[in-house]
Amino acid sequence: MLSELVKKELKRIVGDSNAAFAREDLLCYSYDATNTLYLPEAVVFVESAEEVSLILKMANSEGFPVVPRGAGSGFSGGSLPVEGGVVISTERMKGIIEIDTENLTAVVEPGVVLWEFQQEVERKGLFYPPDPSSMRFSTLGGNIAECAGGPRAIKYGVTRDYVLGLEVVLPTGEIINTGVRTAKGVVGYDITRLMVGSEGTLGIVTKATLRLLPLPEAVKTLLVVFPDLKDAAIAVSEIIKAKVIPSTLELIDGVSLRCVEEYARVGLPEAEAVLLIEVDGSRDGVEKDAAAVERICMETGASYAKSATGKDEVKDLWKARRAISASLFRVKPNKINEDVVVPRASIPELISGIREIAARFNLTIACFGHAGDGNIHVNVMYDKKNHYEAKAAEDAVADVFRLTIGLKGTISGEHGVGVSKAKYLSMELKPEAIEAMKRIKAAFDPNGILNPGKIFPKKAAEEGAYMVGPEAAGQPAVTG
Ligand SMILES: Cc1cc2nc3c(=O)[nH]c(=O)nc-3n(C[C@H](O)[C@H](O)[C@H](O)COP(=O)(O)OP(=O)(O)OC[C@H]3O[C@@H](n4cnc5c(N)ncnc54)[C@H](O)[C@@H]3O)c2cc1C
Repeated sequence: MLSELVKKELKRIVGDSNAAFAREDLLCYSYDATNTLYLPEAVVFVESAEEVSLILKMANSEGFPVVPRGAGSGFSGGSLPVEGGVVISTERMKGIIEIDTENLTAVVEPGVVLWEFQQEVERKGLFYPPDPSSMRFSTLGGNIAECAGGPRAIKYGVTRDYVLGLEVVLPTGEIINTGVRTAKGVVGYDITRLMVGSEGTLGIVTKATLRLLPLPEAVKTLLVVFPDLKDAAIAVSEIIKAKVIPSTLELIDGVSLRCVEEYARVGLPEAEAVLLIEVDGSRDGVEKDAAAVERICMETGASYAKSATGKDEVKDLWKARRAISASLFRVKPNKINEDVVVPRASIPELISGIREIAARFNLTIACFGHAGDGNIHVNVMYDKKNHYEAKAAEDAVADVFRLTIGLKGTISGEHGVGVSKAKYLSMELKPEAIEAMKRIKAAFDPNGILNPGKIFPKKAAEEGAYMVGPEAAGQPAVTG
């Protein structure tokens, strides 16, 4: 429980109008896209690194948890105050401080919404590629903390590849600068990389220096329709094998396609799968790559390919793609949304394995996502009021993870571990690796006040619950 003295001090640090304690205000900061709810005891809207620093120093001396929050759009519970305490919202730190068109860099505050930043950058003929489907509302701070990626990762990489340096407030309250503003820099440990993807557990980002690229001259968008999902998956690996690197290569299965068409009404075809592909670069290069992609798809069983004509059609296709996640609730009221990644060549095996799991558990599992980098969003649909179905959904997820690890993949490409995947950590990481990570956490946050309850399983019983390999001896088995 926060004492009255702490509440008074919070108000003093951020100002009366930037601190909220009323239940109705707290509720707005109690959930994320996992649809789970934990009420914080206070929400503060910070405006500077100095304010964040004072709050973290007090958290250490008074012993309360602090949870950083951007837009709360995370899919793994990262911004949830699972142990109560104070939520630090960055929504008022919205400054685009600088866009340097000579050195192709930008300096931003963490609360800037990605879409607004991209629009600003593109007006100057520049390009910031990371494009999670939540780009219209997620913040740059949240993107950095989760190392967000999106369709363009196949060619341009993920958030990590665009963060040159950070201003970070450490859990103990010190304000540090990491990284560089230059194209290179190897002085000391790479704390920037450590912070990116650390899910708000090692520090609070208060400023970021980002790398920009020139905006590509031309882009061409293709929609390729397949009567069979497996053929679409094979086409993905054939395109990569042919050494054509599209700027996006998205797979949408039949279930997702039908749901999103009912919702968005953009005229998507009735099919078992489509690939939404973009190629970008010089005008000539784009035509050549598009022709190669189309030929490969037709050879691997596509029924037809169509290039989008005009900006509106392209906009509609992407609007539909970004709406898939929400539209799936038409199938069932609840879903477990995972984002496994396998080596690209293993996509066909992943897809057939998931189909087999869906049939075995009698569940609908919708698959879509960034097939070009082997990253598939696996949405296990269920009704939580039906206990058998809810249990089956959880078991199916464990099997999807086993399948992924068996294919030399990883259980999360972009959503992070947060709370929802903590119990599966030992499926992918050896105990020694988890221990090393815990030592890093303890070095940065000796009192465990920053975003506790994330990444590492809280209950000892969950440590190693899903362990695979020789270490698993004696661990409870999870069966299908
Ligand atoms: C419809 C939908 C589509 C999505 N599509 C994608 C996708 O394609 N790719 C993808 O990668 N993700 C996707 N996501 C997940 C989510 O949008 C991303 O993880 C995003 O980066 C989270 O940003 P946010 O501002 O909402 O952060 P939040 O959810 O508020 O926080 C996420 C994590 O970052 C931490 N955090 C926030 N700000 C800071 C800060 N300043 N310093 C330190 N830690 C901080 C929080 O504590 C938390 O652990 C999607 C989500 C939705 C709802």
